[in-house]
Amino acid sequence: MKYVDLHLHTTASDGVMTPSEIVRYAKSKGLQAIAITDHDTIEGLEEGLAEGEKIGFEVIPGIEISAEHSSGSMHLLGFFMDIHHPFLNERLGYLQKARAERNPRIVEKLNRLGIEVTYEEVVKASGGGQIGRPHVARVLLEKGYVRSFPEAFERFLKKGALAYVEKFRFTAKESIHFIEEAKGVAVLAHPNTLNMNGYSELESFLQQLVKEGLKGIEVYYPEHSALEVAQYKTLAERYGLLMTGGTDYHGIEKNGLDIGVGRGEMKLPYSIVEGLKAVRDKSL
Ligand SMILES: [Zn+2]
Ligand SMILES: [Zn+2]
Repeated sequence: MKYVDLHLHTTASDGVMTPSEIVRYAKSKGLQAIAITDHDTIEGLEEGLAEGEKIGFEVIPGIEISAEHSSGSMHLLGFFMDIHHPFLNERLGYLQKARAERNPRIVEKLNRLGIEVTYEEVVKASGGGQIGRPHVARVLLEKGYVRSFPEAFERFLKKGALAYVEKFRFTAKESIHFIEEAKGVAVLAHPNTLNMNGYSELESFLQQLVKEGLKGIEVYYPEHSALEVAQYKTLAERYGLLMTGGTDYHGIEKNGLDIGVGRGEMKLPYSIVEGLKAVRDKSL
């Protein structure tokens, strides 16, 4: 029996392996299929799909969208989207642009507080990688505006602090909509991070997502307890949803999880992929 892994990150977001590397690695591990699901981007898919084609290994185009959510965090997986679909690309482009404007706005807010930092200094502190609040914190520390990293967050950068700028996110409804428009199948990722206040709150939340077009729940996930898995299965059955799973592999050095197996407990059969394909084909 061969297994699949439908939740993986590459260097296109915060994973360690390039898309080609992860495809070759999955094949070498004896998996039957994988989905590449980078955070808020499909930039690794062209390469990943081409590599799959080249070496004869099934790669499913995927994505993991961070959607707006009042408590905890909500991630939505999309599978089988047409990666060249104009609406999908327009929406993801919009998201990127909104995120890129965030750091300059943080600097603007600091300037208005009389703190003399420039965006160029923040870029320099990032060393050329993705820019984020830790780099702003480093500049504040270097210039003596704070005495420590935590102080920079506490006084200026954490949610609700003086120079905080909200991260732009699409709503769940909007995210499901553009996944569906691009002929993809939308699935709620690791429901345990939603921080719901109990089972019945989760159920009514899920009912709303189903109305908005949700087709599945990621039931099998390394951080889910046996009880959570049982609960998510019950909910999936009750609302006729697909049950998917994946390891959320980012590179074993990142969190000790390996592709396909997690910490050794994951065994996801190919029938999960068949279920996704059946739902996709029905809505085509
Ligand atoms: Zn996630
Ligand atoms: Zn993930």
